[in-house]
Order: sequence, then C-alpha cells, then structure tokens
Amino acid sequence: MSKSPRNQWRSSMPDADYTHICPRCLLRDRAKEDIAQLHKYLDKIKESDRVDKDTYEARLLLCTSCDKLHDATCDACGCYVEYRAYVAASHCPKKKW
Ligand code: SF4
Repeated sequence: MSKSPRNQWRSSMPDADYTHICPRCLLRDRAKEDIAQLHKYLDKIKESDRVDKDTYEARLLLCTSCDKLHDATCDACGCYVEYRAYVAASHCPKKKW
C-alpha cells in the first residue's frame, strides 16, 4: 500500500480477529481475510478517484444505518458499500449520500 497521506488513515482500520457475520457489519469489521480483500480492492482505485477519510466515514455511517445494508453489501445496487463509498464519483442509489 502506498504511504501517501490519502492512504495513511486506512492503516488505522481495525484488525478484527473474529469471524462472526453480522448483517449490519462492514467488511472491515470481519475476519482478517475479509479486511485484506477489502484493502486489495481499495488499492486498485486511483488516488485521484478516492474520497478523503471524513467523506468515506460519513458515507459508511449512513450505510450502516440504512435498511438496504446486508452482509456488507448494498441491496439496492449490489456493491460492497466500503468499495462504493471510497470512489469519489460514486453515489448512493437511494440518494442518501
Ligand atoms: S449505498 Fe445507499 S442504499 Fe446502499 S446501503 Fe449505503 S446508504 Fe443504503
């Protein structure tokens, strides 16, 4: 992972070591394998196409309180919300962000 300022905040993501699956949880709340897979996907997004940390967290806060979130996936669009929220040009299919 790059050490640019836009990536440094991601190193503060928790390293969860449990494997329970909660319909309301995000990938980053899950097992290390899921977190690694999430980082792998996020790293493929060009830096210029990413949101800043505050925007990312604000988007995810809305997703985690949304009834469309299920198993880290948005039922309205089928995307992993952590991936969708990370892309600056993305939007919520329900216009929540
Ligand atoms: S992207 Fe929108 S509709 Fe989907 S879970 Fe997040 S807030 Fe809900």
